Amino acid sequence: MKNDRYKKARGGWSRILDIRCEKCEEHIAFYQKDGPGPLKRMYLDRMSEHPSDSEKLACSNCNETLGTKIIYKKEDRPAYRLFVGSVTKKITKAAGI
Ligand SMILES: [Zn+2]
Repeated sequence: MKNDRYKKARGGWSRILDIRCEKCEEHIAFYQKDGPGPLKRMYLDRMSEHPSDSEKLACSNCNETLGTKIIYKKEDRPAYRLFVGSVTKKITKAAGI
């Protein structure tokens, strides 16, 4: 669990999500979601695993494209913007500050 300025900027609390492909339910990554609100993008530094230089986030099982790489300008931070309905999220662990 990372505890840094990004987390502080989002209220200082996080949870770990189990991210899966919507289509085939293949596990994609664990993701630390900071603060409230829907998951629209996944920051690379919050993903347990990711294809390091890939411009696309794709399912390793069914090859479905789940999102595309962006730089979140406000923080100059690389992320994958998720396509609507491309992944399922399940909370695995609640965590405080
Ligand atoms: Zn899949």
